[in-house]
Amino acid sequence: MRKILLLFLLLNLTINAYTQQPTKKAIIVLTYDDALQSQLKVALPQLESAHLNGTFFLAGYNVTPASIPAWREVAKKGNELANHTLYHPCIITTGKGNPANNSANYTVYTILREISETNNLLYAVDGKTSRTFAYPCTELAVGGVNYVDSLRTSGLIKYARIGGNADAVITDFKTLDPLLVPSWAAVGVTTGDELIAFVKKVQQRGGMGVFMFHGVGGDYLTTPALAHKQLLTYLRQHANEIEVLTFQQAMDKVSQAKHH
Ligand SMILES: [Zn+2]
Repeated sequence: MRKILLLFLLLNLTINAYTQQPTKKAIIVLTYDDALQSQLKVALPQLESAHLNGTFFLAGYNVTPASIPAWREVAKKGNELANHTLYHPCIITTGKGNPANNSANYTVYTILREISETNNLLYAVDGKTSRTFAYPCTELAVGGVNYVDSLRTSGLIKYARIGGNADAVITDFKTLDPLLVPSWAAVGVTTGDELIAFVKKVQQRGGMGVFMFHGVGGDYLTTPALAHKQLLTYLRQHANEIEVLTFQQAMDKVSQAKHH
């Protein structure tokens, strides 16, 4: 009987060793662009009830006097307010839109000046001095000139987020450029499962994954409210394996790890 029990224990140990999931901690960053109303109305209450925080890349033109108290509350609750310029300049090829906001008409000087003024606006909202940045329309150039290195030397911005695809899982932190951090714009995604699949990929590879959201349950490039909620539920349920941090917190963490 004792022998059988021992055999059973050994067998159990072996099975456990084979079925154990990789215990590497994954980092997930939830980012929301353009200071949209649906983020205040839908995404934030969901984040709050899940006890999770995100990073909000605010476009200054959407930060109206009426919304400033709300954004101030967002910051007080541990979320990050981040820089997405004042006027969100992008290349305009259609002939529509305000030519003043056409990034083709910008210079490195005018974009850096605008990023600096956005820092001042955000300081007036939350009192913070250290900022992260997301390139408008994920364009790295204005007026045909790449401004990444000018932004780097300006000292205005600590870390910056770029675009990417559903394979944008960051695992090599030694070669990661802090001003070119990839993300996945979950555009066209309709289900929670599709969002969770990205998280699972990050868990398997043991790295960092950054979501780029726009509207949540409204506005444009919309992620359905239910899909967003299902993602947050999954993140909460797997809190032992997944750390959800703001963009700045996550980058601080992986940058420190790089030097050890
Ligand atoms: Zn944007």
